[in-house]
Amino acid sequence: MADRLAMTPAVPPSGLLAQQLAMPSRVDEITDRLVTAIAIGEYLPGARLPVERDIAAALGVGRMTVRAALARLVERGLLETRRGRGGGSYVVDQWPESSTDSVRRTLAVRLGELRDRCDAIARLHGAVCRAAADARTAADVAGLRAALEEYRSAESGLAAQQADSRLHLAIMDAAHNDVLKQVLVDLEASISIGAPAHLWGEPTNMREMELRSLHEHEELIDAIADGRADDADSVARAHLGIDFELISTAMRRAGLLTE
Ligand SMILES: [Zn+2]
Repeated sequence: MADRLAMTPAVPPSGLLAQQLAMPSRVDEITDRLVTAIAIGEYLPGARLPVERDIAAALGVGRMTVRAALARLVERGLLETRRGRGGGSYVVDQWPESSTDSVRRTLAVRLGELRDRCDAIARLHGAVCRAAADARTAADVAGLRAALEEYRSAESGLAAQQADSRLHLAIMDAAHNDVLKQVLVDLEASISIGAPAHLWGEPTNMREMELRSLHEHEELIDAIADGRADDADSVARAHLGIDFELISTAMRRAGLLTE
């Protein structure tokens, strides 16, 4: 993952002292990343975060670093820890004012990179949808239509976001190319920590975005079902533009963009 490489110092720290000095800033950075992921709606209120081990792997850091960062989010009132069956870290608050500095720090250093990554993701989704238009079977089309209906009837927020993930995974399956699917899933993970969940923004304009997505999903599934590869490609690219629009909206709220 490119950003993991970018975070690795040219000369690796060695010895206990270097490690101890490096620790706090790493926890700060991971705290900021997690706070930002929640603020921009990658994990909506009510959603459970991945387990420590998976977050550590996704971000290329140790489990102790992730544990320390999660504890800070609990302290700030963004997460709560539930025990027992179905236990884990659950989101309780999306973007209180206290999160804004973290969002600003996280997005400021990654603006150009995020733009390129979002563009690459949109283009790859286009390629996957093109492949699905070429390779879909009758069973795939039935599955895609069912996933579309699930999205249509899902409640706003978390349920709609989860239905959206299932729909896009069904499209990836209809493309019948596991390598293409894996490349896309890995690239999506690199802008966030929660692939294949897409960003969902904040409650203020969430419903508007969901309805626009519904219209785009309908066009996309029709194009794939009809075998119209060019249309599937262009609709998918436009649809995935939402990710960067939501990041831009978050940048404006954090005071990073003025227009
Ligand atoms: Zn979608």
